[in-house]
Amino acid sequence: MEKHKVLTIDQKESKILHQSLEKVDFSEIPKKELKELAKKMRQIMKEAKGIGLSANQIGLDLRFFVAEVPDSQGRCKFYALANPEIIKRYEEKEVLEEGCLSVPGMVGVVERPSKVIISGFDTNGRKVKIKAWGLLARVFQHEIDHLDGILFIDRTKEAYKIPKND
Ligand SMILES: [Zn+2]
Repeated sequence: MEKHKVLTIDQKESKILHQSLEKVDFSEIPKKELKELAKKMRQIMKEAKGIGLSANQIGLDLRFFVAEVPDSQGRCKFYALANPEIIKRYEEKEVLEEGCLSVPGMVGVVERPSKVIISGFDTNGRKVKIKAWGLLARVFQHEIDHLDGILFIDRTKEAYKIPKND
């Protein structure tokens, strides 16, 4: 894994944001390195005031993302997942406005299942299965899209600029 020295987030023009990424190979990447990456990505995400960040947003070709989303009690839960997959999409759909750290200043409404079950691996290489709904389900789907090279602007009918209040 190449090291990112500066805290920069790739913008939508970047090629790596439009390609499907390589699976994390736990026999090749030491768990320690993956944990360090998760920590670093969490820091970059927080500094950018985001709630999710995928590896290709910092230029890495890896199916890996981090997310930190408040639950219904307002507590923030941190997720770092490798090789995530949506294993079940519930029928009910929800239309919500999305933004993305790689598409700054823009938002757009996207229709997605309101509830999903995903599976993946934590930074210890243990298999996890998570049932998610609401904002968490939204973030998971947005991030897994990133790993397939899809941005929300590819899914929305219309992206528009966030009005600046000054
Ligand atoms: Zn994004």
